[in-house]
Amino acid sequence: MRYAVFSDIHSNLEALNAALGYYKKESVDSYICCGDIVGYGPDPKECIELIAALPDITAVMGNHDAAVCGFKDIRWFHEQAKEVIIWTEKQLAEKDTKYLCGLPRKASINDMTVVHGSPSEPINEYLLTVAQMKENLKLFTEQICLVGHTHAPFIFAGSKKESELLEVKGDLKIILETGKRYIINPGSVGQPRDSNPLASCAIYDTAKREFGFVRLKYDIKTTQRKMASKKLPQYLIERLALGS
Ligand code: ZN
Repeated sequence: MRYAVFSDIHSNLEALNAALGYYKKESVDSYICCGDIVGYGPDPKECIELIAALPDITAVMGNHDAAVCGFKDIRWFHEQAKEVIIWTEKQLAEKDTKYLCGLPRKASINDMTVVHGSPSEPINEYLLTVAQMKENLKLFTEQICLVGHTHAPFIFAGSKKESELLEVKGDLKIILETGKRYIINPGSVGQPRDSNPLASCAIYDTAKREFGFVRLKYDIKTTQRKMASKKLPQYLIERLALGS
């Protein structure tokens, strides 16, 4: 099986189309989305509809998705994020809201657990440190846990003896070892924050046990123009080009 693994689309249709075009070319069998389909960007409705229509998709809820659905107090978000969450609610048709708000907080598929934040706090925890990752390794039974939320790709490998956190820079293919367990973040499709503005996503090939990260060009200027025409916050428009 070849799984498309992606996260944090954040209503960025141009970036999502770049990722889906790549997946089509690579003939993936199945899709896994680690949450935050909406928030920040200009095309929430279009992004939800494209993702909902993907064949064989496993998707979980992110913190922005939860906020748009009223499941999370928006006081926790910074001003600009809050503004777009309120704006996003008004853009969705009933069927979009129904899909978004029906997403599970956790999913399990083929020896992978899928959450947005962490197994400990599926919606909210930012997994950043080795200590956090070691703790979370105890909280799922599958070999791999796929996460999103931090908008920076990484691969954490833990075994009884040792553990290692690798921040992934650019394109990388890595073979997963049977004696190790992993927490993996494919990075963000629609708002990367690792100083690289290219859309980030991945493919997991279970036969080869190979996890491949990739960065993809997309039309950032069009996304920025749409954000400006919809009067979304200037700071959010500028950060896309910086990957910050
Ligand atoms: Zn996010």
